[in-house]
Amino acid sequence: MDTILVVNAGSSSVKFQVYSVEGEGRLQRQIRGQIDGIGSRPRLRASGANGDPLADRAYPIEAVSDVPAAMTIAGEWLRNELRIHPIAVGHRVVHGGPEHDRPVLIDHGVVARLERLVALAPLHQPHNLAPIRSILAGFPSLPQVACFDTAFHRTHGPLADHYAIPHQLHAEGVRRYGFHGLSYEYIAKTLPHIAPDIAKRRVIVAHLGSGASMCALKDGQSVESTMGFTALDGLPMGTRPGQLDPGVVLYLISERGMSASNVQNFLYRDCGLKGLSGVSNDMRELDASADPKAKLAVDYFIYRIGLNAGMLAAALQGLDAFVFTAGIGENSANIRARVVEQLGWLGGALDPIENSRNSRLISRSDSRIPVYVVPTDEELMIAQHTLSLLMNGQSTNPRQERVS
Ligand code: AMP
Repeated sequence: MDTILVVNAGSSSVKFQVYSVEGEGRLQRQIRGQIDGIGSRPRLRASGANGDPLADRAYPIEAVSDVPAAMTIAGEWLRNELRIHPIAVGHRVVHGGPEHDRPVLIDHGVVARLERLVALAPLHQPHNLAPIRSILAGFPSLPQVACFDTAFHRTHGPLADHYAIPHQLHAEGVRRYGFHGLSYEYIAKTLPHIAPDIAKRRVIVAHLGSGASMCALKDGQSVESTMGFTALDGLPMGTRPGQLDPGVVLYLISERGMSASNVQNFLYRDCGLKGLSGVSNDMRELDASADPKAKLAVDYFIYRIGLNAGMLAAALQGLDAFVFTAGIGENSANIRARVVEQLGWLGGALDPIENSRNSRLISRSDSRIPVYVVPTDEELMIAQHTLSLLMNGQSTNPRQERVS
């Protein structure tokens, strides 16, 4: 059986999935696993296609001290115990920089170019590249593909791509890239199957998870996003503030005496829903809490989604559909109901029964715009790109393929 391995490596976990390649290039998810607690309490957990448990084992901290060590353990488990020898590996890589508008087959030159982008995503890019490098060293002939969170947004025009700062900085790479691109690409490819007449029109997609952003789609292409140079901008998130006056950063440095790395940690780990509520970064806990600050955090989240919907509708010069996706968007009927209330002036009207059932279409039949819930699948997107690069030698234009 030919298989594709998909790897999503972060600072303390390596998530992986295995897909079998079926007839006509169809992909079937066979295994979902992860090693988390890297450097603290490492644990390998994996389940099969039907959710049946395949592994749950703890490792001593010194056996899994970093991401490459975790990749080695996952690889050995797959090879030695499950006899899985993938024909290719697809990786999630957060930053592709200005030049990558599609996935790319990896070689040493590509790794060197992606390495230069570490400064643009210091908390993610090094961890994404670590397993690529270790597989390249151990299995030099195994094809590897890098799939970027930024690539889908490379269709942005200059107005969406620039900040009002001197050109030299834009040339250096200080641009509004946008992120969550693999998720938006999946939605853009799925919409034609769900609502063919809508898919070609003006759609806002809200990816509401522990990271959160929104994307304006026109004819299935990204024209604007709430995220910019880094994944800090736009909507408030679990631990990130979203849009913030840069003067606040200056204040933290000049008045609070914070160093650059202190500010970085603060912005990535201590703000957002966690900072504002002082209770939790987890929407389920905030939803259940009676603490007024938890309520403020949830209200702020909803309010900012509404504001950003207005901004993206302006970019699109109108709105024909709204889509919810990711952890909160797919699961929280309460948050969805409150967001749709914010969309009333844009023509959104909720069907509370369909919403409580997590149905695909949750707007009333007389709603001017349909509102959908579409579960995202970034890993399937990576597996499809990897197979496509393997079969064609180059990626077909990612915006012209469709999810089957
Ligand atoms: P993700 O990053 O896409 O995995 O999403 C994680 C976020 O989804 C966390 O904030 C969770 O609290 C939130 N989430 C998952 N299920 C629910 C639910 N039923 N209600 C509210 N939030 C949820």
